[in-house]
Amino acid sequence: MPRARVPFAAGRLWLEFVNTDEAPRHAQPDTLVSFDGYLAWLERTGLLDAVRRAALQRRAVEQPASASAALHEARRIRSTLRPLAERGLHASERVTQAAVLEINRLLGRSTGVRRIAHDPRDGSFHQTFVPAGDAFAALLIPIVESAADALVTGELSRVRRCAADPPCPRVFLDTSRSGHRRWCDMRTCGNRAKATRHRAAVKSTRRRTPAS
Ligand SMILES: [Zn+2]
Repeated sequence: MPRARVPFAAGRLWLEFVNTDEAPRHAQPDTLVSFDGYLAWLERTGLLDAVRRAALQRRAVEQPASASAALHEARRIRSTLRPLAERGLHASERVTQAAVLEINRLLGRSTGVRRIAHDPRDGSFHQTFVPAGDAFAALLIPIVESAADALVTGELSRVRRCAADPPCPRVFLDTSRSGHRRWCDMRTCGNRAKATRHRAAVKSTRRRTPAS
């Protein structure tokens, strides 16, 4: 399986995956509403190339029950990871345990070969996972591995939900030096918050200095 394209807006693959459930708020279908939508998202992240996506699409037509089970599983993992991402280190023991259980269930089922690959473009090395067996179930492996990494490395302390008002469900990894990043994106939620603050400040100034 190729390496995911980075960087993601959310900073990590598993957080980008959690954010796929925000579409209904914008009157768009949930990314995971269909198996095709799921494959399209995987291709956008770089986890699938067009050839492999087409092969999986063909297979889904032949095995619709397996495809819909894989989609169901993806949604289930996502709903387990969301509360963990939203609360980070402050997640309850129940939420954390549920996520660990789901991650382990998937990792335990994955069979395949791990390899090291060298990218001659930038000289970097990365691990890849070549699945053997159920190709549908294997699609989730890089996602749960990304969540597992966050738990193991202590990165969870930097995982936040956007502080926008009205509420924005996006979660992200705070990589700022100060560790005080509040918004999923400065260009959208951050700017809106700034504009709201500005309007409030103008209003209160007007109240204090009535026109004569
Ligand atoms: Zn936001």
